[in-house]
Amino acid sequence: MAAIDGRTRLVGLLGHPIEHTLSPAMHNAAFNALGLNYCYLPLPVAPAELGAAIAGVVALGFVGVNVTIPHKQNVMAYLDEISTEAQAIGAVNLIEFRQNRRIGHNMDGTGFLEALRRQQITVRGTRSLVFGAGGAARAVVYTLLQAGSEVTILNRTTARAESLAAALCSAAGDVRLTAGPLDTEYVAALAAETDLVVNTTALGMTPAVESNPWPASVPYPARAVAYDLVYAPRETAFLRTAKAAGARTIDGLQMLLYQGALAFEMWTGQPAPLDVMLSELLKGRMHS
Ligand code: NAP
Repeated sequence: MAAIDGRTRLVGLLGHPIEHTLSPAMHNAAFNALGLNYCYLPLPVAPAELGAAIAGVVALGFVGVNVTIPHKQNVMAYLDEISTEAQAIGAVNLIEFRQNRRIGHNMDGTGFLEALRRQQITVRGTRSLVFGAGGAARAVVYTLLQAGSEVTILNRTTARAESLAAALCSAAGDVRLTAGPLDTEYVAALAAETDLVVNTTALGMTPAVESNPWPASVPYPARAVAYDLVYAPRETAFLRTAKAAGARTIDGLQMLLYQGALAFEMWTGQPAPLDVMLSELLKGRMHS
């Protein structure tokens, strides 16, 4: 690691707890690889101290910070400006300190979309099926709608899918968005017309690695790209199903990687060393 000195520029992560975060390793490796005098610090902050922590990182001259659970909503009260996406998604996970202003962004959707773009997958004019209706789904669905896809949200708790659809219809404007239950009948009815299937549920995540949001009795459509947000394990049961049917797949590490890369580029103004960052994510995931 490069020596920290009087010129080191600081960035970090505000969250609670953050013992298992992969971000410091990923960013510090990237700074080192490019010889940049930056340091990324884990900053554990209890909910009651959030306002003081924001004032503190501003006073200490931080370039920016990432924000994670449980602060992604509450942090908005301490910002001067919130990007349109972060407002629509209802959460901030990146703050930029620029010209005495605290500017909140949400990189979940941008990172999600960047992984599709890098694989030359066109979203405009497609039909997407999104499993799940939690925080990650909100970012994914908003982003797909903005990028011109027609989206159906299917969730175990149907009422949650319906209320997410209602909220995003009013946030995203004139869009084609429907909601329903995550069950075999619905998936079977929609499968043939789907171009992209995104799993934003926790199904398939370690330790329940065999759980799969795609119903076993419905053949996976080979034309539909399968994108799983779960990144541990990297190849989930859902991605295996899609791959076996001949479909293209994108794993959850891609979204994590591109979110990190976008933050890195915002802070340093340099292209992120993606290979270095991915290799740190892979190392960290194996040890966490
Ligand atoms: P969340 O807000 O808690 O939402 C969890 C979602 O999973 C809900 O839709 C929930 O359905 C569903 N779910 C949980 N257990 C289920 C089960 N046994 N059967 C069916 N559905 C189930 O969580 P989140 O923040 O959206 O995160 C969701 C996943 O995305 C996590 O695995 C997280 O690690 C991943 N993620 C990845 C990235 C990335 O960069 N790759 C970024 C963000 C999140 P109900 O509404 O019915 O409870």
